Amino acid sequence: MSGPRLVLTINCGSSSLKFTIINPETGEERLKGQADALGSSSAALSWQHDEKEGTQKLSPGDDYEGVIGALVKRFDGPWSALREQLRAIGHRVVHGGEQFADSTLINDSVVSAIRACCELAPLHNPAALQGIQASLLAFPELPQVAVFDTAFHQSLPDYAYLYALPYSLYRDHQLRRYGMHGSSHRYIGERSAEILKTPTDKINVISAHLGNGASLCAIKNGKSVDTSMGLTPLEGLVMGSRCGDLDPGLLLHLGEALDYSLAELEQLLNRNSGLLGISELSNDCRELEEAMGKGHAGASLALKLFCYRLAKYIAAYTVPLKRVDSLVFTGGIGENSSWVRRETIGWLSQLGYQLDNKRNEDIRFGSEGQISKDGTLDILVIPTREDWVIARDTIRLANRAL
Ligand code: ADP
Repeated sequence: MSGPRLVLTINCGSSSLKFTIINPETGEERLKGQADALGSSSAALSWQHDEKEGTQKLSPGDDYEGVIGALVKRFDGPWSALREQLRAIGHRVVHGGEQFADSTLINDSVVSAIRACCELAPLHNPAALQGIQASLLAFPELPQVAVFDTAFHQSLPDYAYLYALPYSLYRDHQLRRYGMHGSSHRYIGERSAEILKTPTDKINVISAHLGNGASLCAIKNGKSVDTSMGLTPLEGLVMGSRCGDLDPGLLLHLGEALDYSLAELEQLLNRNSGLLGISELSNDCRELEEAMGKGHAGASLALKLFCYRLAKYIAAYTVPLKRVDSLVFTGGIGENSSWVRRETIGWLSQLGYQLDNKRNEDIRFGSEGQISKDGTLDILVIPTREDWVIARDTIRLANRAL
């Protein structure tokens, strides 16, 4: 196909905006960058292009619109050759509620539907919405697509997505488990199928996305049938600064006996818990491994708790899958921490999992491959590519819009 064919992906977080320009056919990243610390005096735009790095200060008043304005100026100047090759724009949106089981071309009614989901994801969707609106104004001639983190998990059966609460809370308020990291888990399912030479609709995978946020997904015949995040990204695994699963009665106790307000609970559960809360040192796995090496007891306990919870979830996901073709580690921790992989698999030998220690040490820092012993259950490491999933969906829908 001739003509413009690159995709700009935009990912608005709570105080950052990440972007890439990517070739959706090959996955090649032509430009990659981010705006960090938005709203503060250190706000800045940084990028890598043609193996060169650049930065530019942003003003503290710059919001997502300001960042997109700064990008447009660069597209009118030094990046004009890339601009001419842009075919479409893909936006990552965390929450698509029950309305979106696939990515979608953005129009007014889609914008309204994303706005309606803000209630379900108050920390995430408003940022995505601002990015979308600024980008619709800045690039009116390009088709724009929303890619939802929740969409891949819309195939969960009701007995997996419902909480055992009064059914009316689901019926009247859509309170249920939605799951996140859908683009990453979908990529892991599709890539595993390629590696194992199995059709995507026949592959069964347990996908462990372990980054600052962490979630597990059971993929059966290529579709998500269970996942560890819930209504919000708080449920499930231990994360960098989020607690994961808790006894909900503990929240009542914190409110009643210790006088925690809702704002204090939000801070406690999302920002002060997880690896950070237990170690009393850091939310960062690499830093904790270093500290553990020097005998820091809190770091060691936090990492052990992380792996134990993860191993229990992996064992649980053999229930919906029955036959597991591959267990896959991905995300910053899953791709790089041979210690976390070894500790986790150590709990799972009764299921038939055994690591090949040399492969486990060798496959890190962006490489892909098998880390299990030959003849035992398959364990893979696959670097995730959420931006490529977004770009592929974006071009598929943009071409359909022709
Ligand atoms: P995010 O969810 O923000 O995208 P990432 O997927 O980049 O996060 O994962 C960040 C996590 O990966 C951090 O805890 C970091 O310490 C961990 N990590 C990155 N490299 C290594 C490494 N070499 N060893 C252990 N952990 C690592």
